[in-house]
Amino acid sequence: MALADIKARIAAAERAAGRPEGSVALIAVSKIQPLDRVVSVLEAGHSVFGENYVQEAAGKWPDLRARFPGTKVHMIGPLQTNKAKTALELFDAIHTLDRPSLAEKLSRLVQARGVAPELFVQVNTGSEPQKAGVLPEDADGFIAACRLLDLPVTGLMCIPPDGEDSAPHFRMLAEIAERNGVSALSMGMSSDFEVAIAHGATHVRVGSAIFGARVTA
Ligand SMILES: *Cc1c(COP(=O)(O)O)cnc(C)c1O
Repeated sequence: MALADIKARIAAAERAAGRPEGSVALIAVSKIQPLDRVVSVLEAGHSVFGENYVQEAAGKWPDLRARFPGTKVHMIGPLQTNKAKTALELFDAIHTLDRPSLAEKLSRLVQARGVAPELFVQVNTGSEPQKAGVLPEDADGFIAACRLLDLPVTGLMCIPPDGEDSAPHFRMLAEIAERNGVSALSMGMSSDFEVAIAHGATHVRVGSAIFGARVTA
């Protein structure tokens, strides 16, 4: 199946970059995919998934996680502050920490729960006005502010501009991570995950190349 093919390509990209086998986590992005496709990837033994919408995830993952124990679900879409509490109940990782109001809300909730998800700060590497994420020049300050709020920022995430070479964006994200002592890099999608691995990605987010084109009703 397509999953095996993507795993083989990830392994080849790890070797080509001189990186240890298994150093890149594959997040299978299952947003807006029919349930039977998601179940077949779970049945094939894959255990890390990505979702974009809190409501959609709430409708399918509690049941799927009960059927497939040990499954991890990562939030990779924009997160509204008023859905932060539900998000902490649903997700093992949040890749879209991108503004002070969300950091403050998550900080309060994490303190009350006593456990934090894996947290990635989203950086708008292309400085696109319509795109979420902190601007590159604000990234160091925002990461420091999150840490002052006791939020353990373990990674950075980016979505390069459509139709541009992704490589300079991946390089920029890796540099911001390096100078801030952040070790995880969530970058690379169906069309550019091998480039991302060459630039140090630790998490690639691959949807359509695994599940097929997203069908919208
Ligand atoms: C949908 C989505 C993906 C997966 O995209 P594909 O091109 O289908 O691999 C990855 N990251 C984010 C943030 C997404 O929204």
